[in-house]
Amino acid sequence: MLDYCVIGSGISGSTIANYLSKRHTIKVFDKANGLGGRSSYKRFKGKIGFDHGLQYISPKSREFKNFTKLLIKKRILKQWKGKHSFINTKVKENKKHVKLIGYSGNNSISKFLLKNIKYQLKYELLNIKREKNIWNLYFLNNQKITAKNLIVTVPFPQSKKLLSKFVKNNLFRNNVKMNSAITVLVITNKTNNKLSSFFTNDSILGWVSNENSKKRFKFNKDLWVLQSTFKFGKLHINKYKKNKKYYTHVLINKFKNLTKVKIKKIYFTHIHGWKYSSSSLPLKSYSYWDKKIGLGICADWFGGPRLENGWLSARDLFKKINKTA
Ligand SMILES: Cc1cc2nc3c(=O)[nH]c(=O)nc-3n(C[C@H](O)[C@H](O)[C@H](O)COP(=O)(O)OP(=O)(O)OC[C@H]3O[C@@H](n4cnc5c(N)ncnc54)[C@H](O)[C@@H]3O)c2cc1C
Repeated sequence: MLDYCVIGSGISGSTIANYLSKRHTIKVFDKANGLGGRSSYKRFKGKIGFDHGLQYISPKSREFKNFTKLLIKKRILKQWKGKHSFINTKVKENKKHVKLIGYSGNNSISKFLLKNIKYQLKYELLNIKREKNIWNLYFLNNQKITAKNLIVTVPFPQSKKLLSKFVKNNLFRNNVKMNSAITVLVITNKTNNKLSSFFTNDSILGWVSNENSKKRFKFNKDLWVLQSTFKFGKLHINKYKKNKKYYTHVLINKFKNLTKVKIKKIYFTHIHGWKYSSSSLPLKSYSYWDKKIGLGICADWFGGPRLENGWLSARDLFKKINKTA
C-alpha cells in the first residue's frame, strides 16, 4: 500500500510529490493524457507545439525566485526574450518582470519534478471512501487504489465535490470563483511579425502569443496561442463545444484585426475551453492538512491565480506534514 497518493500532476501535485518522495512511497494519478495540468504543452509535431494554458512565470516571492534560479541553471526554465506589445491599452511592459518559460514546454517543471516518481495518466478519481484508517480511491477506469494518506491538488470546485465530507473546517465555504477562458491554437503561414506577444484591452481577445518567439523549435510556419478574456470565457464556456468553428472564427478574426499580422493561410486550428482557468481571491491559509485522517490539499487557488501559488501551497503543505510527523 502507498504511503501517499497524490491526485493531480500540475505544479502543486508534482511539487508535493517530489518533496514527499524523499522519505515515503508515493504515486501520482492524473486524469489527463499528459503531465503538467494547466501548464500543459500541446505538441503538434516533434518539438513543435503550443503552451496551451499557462503562458509564462514572473516569480514574486524570494523562495520561488530561488527555485526558478535553480531551474534556469538546470535548463528546465529559460527567459522568454523579445518584444511584448500592448494594444489599445495604457498598460506598459514592466521590464523588471522577467518572463520565464519551460525549456521544451511549460510542463517542463512538472516533468522535471516527477522524473523519478511513479505516475499514472488517464486515471480520473471519481469516488473516495475511508475504511479502517485507509483511503480507498475509485477511478473512472474501474481501478481501485489504497493509500495511508491522500493529497488532492485539483481546482476548487472539483476538490469540493470530492472532499466535502472529509474536510472539517470551513475551507469549502469560501467563495472561490474560478474564471473561465477559451484558447485557440493556430498555425499560419510564416508572417513578418517581430513581436513575441500581444496584450489587449479588447472584450473578447485578451492575449496572443507567438510560439516561434520562444525559440524551442524552428519551423517554416507561425504558431499562435489566442486566449479569450475571462468575460468572454464566462459567457461562452458551456456552449463553445457545440459550435467550435464559430468560436475559432471569432477569436481568429479578432487576432487579425487587432494585431494586423498578415495571415494568408491557416493550416491548423484547435480550440479548448478552460472551465477553471484561474481563481479569484487568495484565502487565509496556504494549504490544508488533517493529520488524523491523513488528508492534504494544496493548489494554486489557496493563494491566487498564478502557478507560483501552487508551488507555495505545496511547500506550505509539506511543512505542515513534517511538523506533525
Ligand atoms: C489559459 C491559462 C493561462 C494561464 N496563464 C498563466 C500565466 O501566464 N502565469 C501564471 O503564473 N499562471 C497562469 N495560469 C494559471 C496556472 O496555470 C495555474 O495557476 C497552475 O498551473 C495551477 O497548478 P495546480 O497544480 O494548482 O493545478 P492544475 O495545473 O490544474 O493541476 C491539477 C491536475 O489535477 C488533474 N485532475 C483534476 N481532477 C482530477 C480527478 N478527479 N482525478 C485525477 N486528476 C484530476 C488535472 O488533470 C490537472 O492535471 C494560467 C492558466 C490557464 C488555464
